[in-house]
Amino acid sequence: MPVFDVDNDHLEQVWKKPVSKALTELGDEGFVVAEGEACKLINKTNTIISLTGSVPLNSEGFAYLRKNGLAVFLDVDHAEIVRRCAIMKVDRIVGQATQSLSEILSYRSSVYNSNYDLRILVEVGANVQRVTDMVLDQLNKDQHFVSTRSGRTNEDFCEVVTKGLAKDRGLFFPCFVPAVTLRQLERLLPLDYAARCLRLMEMFPLAAISPKQLQAILEHAYQNWPTKDVLPLNHINHGLYELELFHGPTASFKDFALQVLPSLFQACAQVVSRETGSDSPTTYLFVVATSGDTGSACLQGFGSAANTPVVVLYPKGGVSPIQEAQMLAVKGDVCVIAVEGDFDYCQTLVKDLFNNQEFCSLVWNKYKGKLASGNSINWGRLFPQIPFAFHAYLELVKSGRVKMGERIDVCVPTGNYGNVLGVILAKKMGLPIDQIIVASNSNDVLTEFLTTGVFDLRKRELMKTVSPSIDILLPSNLERFLYLISGENSKVVAQWFSDLANHKHFTVPMELLRAAGIKGSSCSEADTLTTIGQVYQETGHILDPHTAVAYAVATRFAGEKNPMVIAGTAHYLKFPGAVAKALRLPLAEDCPMAQQVAALRSLTSQTPPHAALASLTARTPEKVCAAKAQAIQNTILAFLDSRRQ
Ligand SMILES: *Cc1c(COP(=O)(O)O)cnc(C)c1O
Repeated sequence: MPVFDVDNDHLEQVWKKPVSKALTELGDEGFVVAEGEACKLINKTNTIISLTGSVPLNSEGFAYLRKNGLAVFLDVDHAEIVRRCAIMKVDRIVGQATQSLSEILSYRSSVYNSNYDLRILVEVGANVQRVTDMVLDQLNKDQHFVSTRSGRTNEDFCEVVTKGLAKDRGLFFPCFVPAVTLRQLERLLPLDYAARCLRLMEMFPLAAISPKQLQAILEHAYQNWPTKDVLPLNHINHGLYELELFHGPTASFKDFALQVLPSLFQACAQVVSRETGSDSPTTYLFVVATSGDTGSACLQGFGSAANTPVVVLYPKGGVSPIQEAQMLAVKGDVCVIAVEGDFDYCQTLVKDLFNNQEFCSLVWNKYKGKLASGNSINWGRLFPQIPFAFHAYLELVKSGRVKMGERIDVCVPTGNYGNVLGVILAKKMGLPIDQIIVASNSNDVLTEFLTTGVFDLRKRELMKTVSPSIDILLPSNLERFLYLISGENSKVVAQWFSDLANHKHFTVPMELLRAAGIKGSSCSEADTLTTIGQVYQETGHILDPHTAVAYAVATRFAGEKNPMVIAGTAHYLKFPGAVAKALRLPLAEDCPMAQQVAALRSLTSQTPPHAALASLTARTPEKVCAAKAQAIQNTILAFLDSRRQ
């Protein structure tokens, strides 16, 4: 494409005078209007149009150019622009007569930041070649997704988010995963959490979702946080840091993705419906399996949105009383079912429902509804979890604990393998992470797998523990991990899962696991409670049982070398029974929830959980189902009928 420079090739020709002269004659405002008018005379196709810094300030002129073009925002550090302009002795910048260039740039920043199609996060000192490469990388990024079981599909981001699961039961994974350099990370240092998320997430393929939409979604999502700092990083002791992921409305890390997913989903559904016309669904029925926290976070996020009814399946007796009360307290377009089975049963049932032609046709014919997923099998749910590790790293750099480029270790209490997969992807993108440690409780199938290469469910039975949210034996996101370490070989992945379905086990070559650098270890029930007690004794800080599992495991891997970041996945007041036991607090088993919470509250000065948690009272489920597919399907259909009345 030829280059057309608005300054040199257009304005001077139209106005028949130097641009600096026009600026003096017209004044700032008059100049911007005249420039916008002049832009409307540009009639180019297949051309790279190089704008002036003031073109975006005139909304009409800029809208004209954008109508048939892509706006690429070269986001350069302001200090660098000031330095360059001083060398160039520029004399024709709008506003220059009365303001410093820094002032001009900070005013313009909001205009630039809300009017682009592609942002290029330019490193300080990047040369022309580097910037060109980055532009091409973003322009040419592959918008398609693969299925982990059959490779490349025709689906893009919006389709993947609304579908949840691929037709062949595989999980969707993007063909393009962006790379981030240390110097780009430096650009993220001054930003807050939502702004960091935006810059990382918009590098991924988003199909027709614009950066402006994503920005609005993220800002809205993280408004409802009681702490000023959405995601604080807290030093516990001995170089171990807790990333406090639990200040959202349901007090677990799931809020981070599930406050984003509903609006992201609506935006994607709109795009899909634009593309498919009258044949698009009027209702998206979210069917979600939960080990405790996804349920409430999903109900919170979706329950009040239009045409996204939520059905939650949880293992009866397999979640904490507070988790149960949280789910049952939600009013709105929701149906909460206590299933007399374990989490793995619930999760497999949900996957079966997605592939049950008869059930899906019934939902479509009778309600014009499609099934949708809020579990981390949905890429739209997993993807907002990638920024966690980046944020932790940037906070460590900002506070001087780590120099940019030095490596950190990360340890995650793991159930469905979604949170830790975010860390694995962050590392793949270039974040300097050394060890990634997968922590399990007594349901330690992952520890066995990561240390032997054998994933074996033959002699396994799910145990109920004090960390119920990771009581999982068949983590759905392991599949995305296997896809990555197999060298993105969907044939091999399909074979492993076929082995699992037929023989309840499969074996992965240890070389692949070693090369991935992921380690696993587990923590017993007794050790979990002892850890909570010990950390409280030593530091006055209370860990929730899941975070304690990770803490106990992390201490086995922590070296003098790297700081270790532990994912603090839930607020300790969500599990008062277990925590009281760990701290040897004399609380009667049947002591009301509010009283347990109050007793534990008084022990520390830690930030209390979101206000939504304070007013909960214990509840018993109205809908209890046997672990039978037909019974559960009937309950869901009865719920859909009741909605129509
Ligand atoms: C969901 C959850 C986990 C496990 O996260 P995965 O992404 O499923 O591995 C750990 N801790 C708590 C408190 C959770 O809610």
